[in-house]
Amino acid sequence: MPLHVAPLSRRSFLAQGAAAAAGLTMLRSGWGADAGANPHLWALLSDTHVPNSPEVTSGETNMTNNLRQVVREVTALKTRPAGVIINGDCAYLKGLPADYANLAQCVAPLSDAGLPLHVTMGNHDDRGPLYDALKSQKPERPLLESKHVTIIESPHANWFLLDTLTQVDVVTGEIGAEQREWLAKALAARPDKPALVMAHHTPQFDPPAEGKPWGGIKDTAEFMDLLGSHKHVKAFLFGHSHNWTITRRGNLQLINLPPVAYVFAAGKPNGWVLAEVRENGLTLSLRTIDPAHKQNGELVNLTWE
Ligand SMILES: [Zn+2]
Repeated sequence: MPLHVAPLSRRSFLAQGAAAAAGLTMLRSGWGADAGANPHLWALLSDTHVPNSPEVTSGETNMTNNLRQVVREVTALKTRPAGVIINGDCAYLKGLPADYANLAQCVAPLSDAGLPLHVTMGNHDDRGPLYDALKSQKPERPLLESKHVTIIESPHANWFLLDTLTQVDVVTGEIGAEQREWLAKALAARPDKPALVMAHHTPQFDPPAEGKPWGGIKDTAEFMDLLGSHKHVKAFLFGHSHNWTITRRGNLQLINLPPVAYVFAAGKPNGWVLAEVRENGLTLSLRTIDPAHKQNGELVNLTWE
């Protein structure tokens, strides 16, 4: 089973055991598994860039302090969310074991509070060291051997967490033919509810200038064709560009999550997003690191067509 969920309640453990016995590779989380949590509520984090030591800063940003602050805010929520997702670039630059040891300490209060954690892989991550430090992230039976992917079912939507890491500390992201093929089948197998697809890298619709590397998803065209061919895919959520924005492409909502760590442009918000999945949409609430940031508390209501 892809036991990406920690901790597991006895009930969800038994449910997963039964699913495993039935040969299913589904991950069920936050749906009837934890009576105390709101199954529609998710804490979305991205680009935490946690370094090997809490003292390390980038510019004026202390990435460890930022993540610690966000974890405090998430665990202090009056209503417990179904889970927390860190959408890649969990580690600072090279996915070092010491980065993940620091990360594990930062996120420990989530586990203590009974909040399941899911992660995706960014270009600054490394699967092996991450699995070593965050043992609960290592799937016992990976859905896809070479990638770290997760499916989370929730009452009003299914989440599909993808892996766009190609090579550690190389900026280019890629879904890849194998993962696209897997995703097409996984989406087709779950047509009954809206699908929310998430990966670390930014879509890149135009090729880079000559001699420059792809900075986003290299196979964006194929990936967008795939998402577009499954009408129940309502949103693609990503990070990487540290640029909180929401745009649309046809009926697909493109949600660029803010970084927990540093911003790339002065004045942009860093922080996290509390997402509530509604029957016919998604409500996003921005929580900025600087409580005085003008966008703190910004609410975005997306409705599916
Ligand atoms: Zn990145």
